[in-house]
Amino acid sequence: MSATQRDTAIVWLRRDLRLRGNPALAHACSQHQRVVVVFILDAAGEGDRSPGAASLAWLHRSLQALDADLRQRHSALILRRGDSHAQLQRLIDDCQATAVYWNRRYEPAVRERDAAIKQWLSDIPGLQVQSFNASLWWEPWEISTGQGKPYRVFTPMWKNMLENWRAPRPEALPQPFPALTDAPASLTLDELALRPQQRGEPAWDDGFFHARQTAPYTLWQPGEQGAWQRLREFGDGALHDYKARRDVPASAGTSMLSPHLAWGEISTPQLVSELCPDGQPPADAMINSFVRELAWREFSWHLLYHFPHLPEQPLQPKFTDFPWREDDSALQRWQRGETGIPIVDAGMRQLWQHGWMHNRVRMLVASFLTKNLLLPWQAGERWFWDTLVDADLANNSQGWQWTAGCGADAAPYFRVFNPVTQGQRFDPDGDYVRCFVPALARLPKQYIHAPWSASADTLRQAGIEPGRDYPMPMVDLQRSRERALQAWQQIR
Ligand SMILES: Cc1cc2nc3c(=O)[nH]c(=O)nc-3n(C[C@H](O)[C@H](O)[C@H](O)COP(=O)(O)OP(=O)(O)OC[C@H]3O[C@@H](n4cnc5c(N)ncnc54)[C@H](O)[C@@H]3O)c2cc1C
Repeated sequence: MSATQRDTAIVWLRRDLRLRGNPALAHACSQHQRVVVVFILDAAGEGDRSPGAASLAWLHRSLQALDADLRQRHSALILRRGDSHAQLQRLIDDCQATAVYWNRRYEPAVRERDAAIKQWLSDIPGLQVQSFNASLWWEPWEISTGQGKPYRVFTPMWKNMLENWRAPRPEALPQPFPALTDAPASLTLDELALRPQQRGEPAWDDGFFHARQTAPYTLWQPGEQGAWQRLREFGDGALHDYKARRDVPASAGTSMLSPHLAWGEISTPQLVSELCPDGQPPADAMINSFVRELAWREFSWHLLYHFPHLPEQPLQPKFTDFPWREDDSALQRWQRGETGIPIVDAGMRQLWQHGWMHNRVRMLVASFLTKNLLLPWQAGERWFWDTLVDADLANNSQGWQWTAGCGADAAPYFRVFNPVTQGQRFDPDGDYVRCFVPALARLPKQYIHAPWSASADTLRQAGIEPGRDYPMPMVDLQRSRERALQAWQQIR
């Protein structure tokens, strides 16, 4: 065995698709001469939460970008498919590896799988096996209430994070990066069939990446470089007005870093380190407000870790008996953005067109589904899981439980968002609605969030025939609100 063969480390990348600030990779590069970077597509290993269709479309481009970054450094990304343990075992044999490193994940099924893999690999004599934290600022077991319990409420956890401020020190890009001259066998990216057309479906993701997205939203650029580009643009612009604009869906006032974070093309520790370079809590109110949102992400992962049933079951047990309705056709109208409530339809159509939706509108469409339509939050969560490019098991389950009122630190169920007044407040000129529901584009702003209140004349002048160009509301907002409150009375 040559010296090179003896000194090979495998870095198993998963949702940490980046070269910088990647502890497993940095460790491998500092300790070993030969580093083999692998991504294994293992749908079964994710339990029943293998990535949804939109996430897979993103993943295709992210892996492409990562491979290009590695090739620039005379290395390459090795692609495999199937059971992670079997594939790792084969790769260890293929390249006679002496070490396997990865960064930790916290989804319940993945934790179980990874623990078993760690156990198996640790039994191989002479093989070093180590996992690292690459994605969280505080791992879920590192922070707890004064009584040593997991947090169920965000504000005290944030207070604790501020008082015991942690300045992350992300690893630099490994220099020099070890070249890989004798790469083991790899599948091609197309063989993974991540894009819809590779599975015989129409190329519905073209609009996400190729067509110019509807202004003010700009084109996604999956991959580590795209993430940093997005951060630079945000840091130079919307960040300075984040507090005021983050709730205005027409203004692109948020970072839109979520898909980059979901795939680990950039991480919370990197963002905190970048935005708080002096190692102290941010003095700037805008940065503070943004970092607080990152802390919500930490809170979601904290909850998922400590309450692994978060994606399926309400954190408040009384909601197990909530009288949800079953109505497939209503669910479909919501999914297609044909509810007849403009801001809800605009949000659902933005999701369809961009694989992403503004946070304020996510809350509104989720409230409409779970309260006005009285459909279970799990149905909405599953739809988001399949259609969001930023689908993130912790944030998505937490966001749905929050809006449905059954979560740990949730908006109370009886607080039902009124999508008309919310629209008037956060989209006062109707620009967001006009952007995604062009049929309503010519309607004066005083009617844009409630077209049914416009006179027949106004509608005619705007070129709208109700029911033909735009649906009538599928429920009466007042009556459906009362129905939701009655349902709530049954479980109080
Ligand atoms: C019903 C519902 C479902 C959601 N599903 C997801 C999901 O699948 N994936 C996801 O990343 N976020 C989800 N969110 C949270 C939030 O809507 C998105 O993180 C945010 O819209 C992403 O846009 P941004 O990157 O521009 O956010 P910014 O405002 O720029 O915030 C920066 C980052 O902070 C984190 N963050 C911001 N708001 C929240 C929040 N409310 N909860 C947790 N983390 C937050 C995200 O990682 C985000 O990328 C959901 C929210 C709701 C109400």
